Amino acid sequence: MARPTASMEDYLETIYELIQEKGYARVSDIAAALDLQPSSVTRMVQKLDEQNYVVYERYRGLVLTAKGEQIGRQMRRRHRTLEQFLRLIGVEDEDIIQQDVEGIEHHVSLTTMNALRRLVEFMNRHPQWLRAFQDYVRSRDAAGGDDPDADDEPA
Ligand code: ZN
Repeated sequence: MARPTASMEDYLETIYELIQEKGYARVSDIAAALDLQPSSVTRMVQKLDEQNYVVYERYRGLVLTAKGEQIGRQMRRRHRTLEQFLRLIGVEDEDIIQQDVEGIEHHVSLTTMNALRRLVEFMNRHPQWLRAFQDYVRSRDAAGGDDPDADDEPA
């Protein structure tokens, strides 16, 4: 069974969140959350139904199947962990965080995701380690002017 596309994963994540928050997910809610036209949401929801990720009945609404729910939950978990990770390493711009997370969450392997999750856990449990890292970043920034991208060797 092929992996769902990135777009399908986004739908499943959104549907999962809506059901967690409101107890249901309507096409109009999904369209609002993803900033899409209801007609394109309906098409995608039908496709998700054909591939057995949701059960969609026009008048009764939409439920996740077991495999749809599993992917929705996984995507939301990845999203949260990646957000935390980027904030902990000092990315402050919320637009950049969301944009990067939306890309990374579809492509990162399970192995790397688990390693990142452990790192986030560790940083949260050892604030002194996190502070040491943040002091390091501040001192590098204060030293000024260097472009880390152009110089990957530590000074
Ligand atoms: Zn996401």
